[in-house]
Amino acid sequence: MWLTDGRRSLLVEGERLARVEEGRRGRRFEAITPGLQDAHAHPLYWGMALRGLDLSGLKDPEEVALKAAERAKALPRGAWLEGQGFLFPKPPPPGLLDRAAPENPVFFRSRDYHSAWINRLAAERAGLTAETEPPEGGAFLRGEDGVPYVLLERAQELVVPHLPPPSPEDLERGLRDFARRGYTAVHAMGYEPPEALDWALGLELPVRLWWALPRGTWRGRAPGWRGDLHLAGVKFFADGALGSRTAWMHTPYPDGSTGMPLDSLEALLEEGEAALRAGFTLAVHAIGTRAVEGVLEVFHRLAPLAREKGLRLRMEHVQHVRDEALPLFSGLPLALSLQPLHLLEDQHLVRAFGLPAREAFRFRSLLSTGLPLALGSDAPVAPPQYALNLEAATRHPLTPEESLSPEEVLLGHTLGAAQAAGWEDYGRLQAGMRADLTLFEGGRPVGRVYRGNLELF
Ligand SMILES: [Zn+2]
Repeated sequence: MWLTDGRRSLLVEGERLARVEEGRRGRRFEAITPGLQDAHAHPLYWGMALRGLDLSGLKDPEEVALKAAERAKALPRGAWLEGQGFLFPKPPPPGLLDRAAPENPVFFRSRDYHSAWINRLAAERAGLTAETEPPEGGAFLRGEDGVPYVLLERAQELVVPHLPPPSPEDLERGLRDFARRGYTAVHAMGYEPPEALDWALGLELPVRLWWALPRGTWRGRAPGWRGDLHLAGVKFFADGALGSRTAWMHTPYPDGSTGMPLDSLEALLEEGEAALRAGFTLAVHAIGTRAVEGVLEVFHRLAPLAREKGLRLRMEHVQHVRDEALPLFSGLPLALSLQPLHLLEDQHLVRAFGLPAREAFRFRSLLSTGLPLALGSDAPVAPPQYALNLEAATRHPLTPEESLSPEEVLLGHTLGAAQAAGWEDYGRLQAGMRADLTLFEGGRPVGRVYRGNLELF
């Protein structure tokens, strides 16, 4: 099969690019790129998010309640009504969801996954009463009768076990959605329950999957390719997130706290070394400046072993970086996995918390370290939309000089992501490379080539 963008033509034979030539031959598209990769996502949870009501963009509780009432009419009595994506400027009023859906338990998650809004019936199903105390790391907003109706942070975990459980169908739904958006590969970033790997291995995969297991769950598993799935990494969390003020920072938050380490640096060094010896690379979540610097210190100690094993370490998010940390990146066997689209929301947090704006989302500075940048969405935290990363990265709202060019954003979703995955025959339009391709018209993905097949959306 020949494809062309009008300037050059590609011959796809089986799953490989057989020839790349000047000129026009075959079916024409406005642009043809190496297959887009989402370098950081949670496809099972994205699939679960898609089964619920899409509330994204809604800022008014009344609008959400209207949607809930409409959907509840179509559901059997007693069935869970799930949804996600709202973000309210202030808490919703109590009672609204009870009137909207009196016969269905409702569980709506906020866009950032840090809170959930429930109705009375959902509280009943989960056994929440006026006497229930929130768990550590969680909090409630209570209605007039004292029954919780907004669950913050870990308080959500009181209801989650009562929801329909995650299933292989959710994983498949999530992966198919990535494929429909033009992605040919997804890096699944180790938050899924352990059985999700076995579900993935049982599926006809619509994208290549780079898979990280949560720390503590990798022993007894061997890294390597199984069909289109590459079991490759172990995921660690060096700290929390900005919105919940758990990202581990040098500059304090307004309440004087500085966030917290989650997996200790000692544990990262110890278990990380064992995982590297077993042939897994490490993907370490680090958002705050202190987490980033702590992880860099550990990575410098692990670098000789990673090189010996031919593995590239990964740092996930790398969201806040001090000037003095920048020289510490260079020369490490490391890829930096970033999600520019979080900047669209997090810019407001950076301002509200009074954090140094110039330390936040340093795309240009990080690219200047010489390390590959791999770009992703962190779906379901944000939808896996290439256009959103493009918007956020090319027009940095806090420090315009940290912006990337559109070409650099594309590289982050193709070659950079392939380097982070350790995939040497991906991410370039050259003879001999994998023929995973994304096809564009009007600047948007309209199709892809995957496993030698042309798919148009
Ligand atoms: Zn994530």
